[in-house]
Amino acid sequence: MRVLITGGAGFVGSHLAERLLARGDEVYIIDDLSTGSVENIQHLKGNSNFHYHLDSVTNTRLTAELVDLCDIVYHLAAAVGVRLIVESPVKTIETNIRGTEVVLELAAKKRKRVLLTSTSEVYGKLERIPFREDDDLVMGATHKGRWSYACSKAIDEFLAIAYWKEKRVPTVIARLFNTVGPRQTGRYGMVVPNFVRQAITGRDLTVFGDGRQSRCFTHVSDAVGALIGLAEHPSAVGEVYNVGSTEEVTILALAERVRELAGSESEIRTVPYEEAYEEGFEDMQRRVPDLTKIGRLIGYEPKRGLDEILASVIEYERARMPQDADFAPS
Ligand code: UDP
Repeated sequence: MRVLITGGAGFVGSHLAERLLARGDEVYIIDDLSTGSVENIQHLKGNSNFHYHLDSVTNTRLTAELVDLCDIVYHLAAAVGVRLIVESPVKTIETNIRGTEVVLELAAKKRKRVLLTSTSEVYGKLERIPFREDDDLVMGATHKGRWSYACSKAIDEFLAIAYWKEKRVPTVIARLFNTVGPRQTGRYGMVVPNFVRQAITGRDLTVFGDGRQSRCFTHVSDAVGALIGLAEHPSAVGEVYNVGSTEEVTILALAERVRELAGSESEIRTVPYEEAYEEGFEDMQRRVPDLTKIGRLIGYEPKRGLDEILASVIEYERARMPQDADFAPS
């Protein structure tokens, strides 16, 4: 099969490319390196089935060519990371909405199948746990920057569903819950790479808020398996699926576990949200997916637990520490 991965040099995209190449697919990626990195795909460059273009999906001429070549488009290109969203809201909104418009418009010309990665962030401040795909989305006020990400991805979802309903473009939506693993950068605020780097360099682990908020972390290899299963299943078309894990951990407990597994002497320090992000920042207390729908369709069940996930990130970060600029003392 020939596939196009937008955002293919990103954290999830590069793992997806690797998995598809391993089973013999021909993989094309397009990535403007805004949050992705060449380092993520370095090891794939020798594979004759791998083709990469360092460009934006909004380069419609190039994206049109690539969409035409491929059987399935995995649309992963997006602005992600709470820190990036709070600091660059214009870029977040524009990248997410424009990029998706271009991909869907081009896919529509030849009715190519599109898997759109969305996010658990779209559930917003919903408090009823676990989150089901047909639950209401509960957004905060528009002057609170965080919600622009949720809204931009919600618009992407509306667009994907509209293209299916109105133009019969086969689209599938995957809402990724906190996905982690090797190659995820801590630069845009994600907690696991941040804690791991802090632990192995002996710096304080910075827990935002009181640390009683919780999350469920999924290993990227489980997430990638789910994306492929959904993209290729005929009955997934026009539907939304949660992709995640139900193993819930508070952020404070996460910090303690990272410190323990890394054998670190670092202190754990709490940082108020307004200091970590911006005045009036709103966080979600809990975020747990209901996995019934995806389980029924493709038999999805995450295989890797929290300790295994953290061990894989610790090993990866230790190995790259010396050559990584992010580790340089600030
Ligand atoms: N967080 C933290 N310390 C950090 C980075 C994040 O305590 O250095 C917290 C963050 O406030 C949130 C949780 O960890 O409650 C998960 O954050 P992340 O940005 O990884 O994902 P989110 O679930 O917010 O999209």
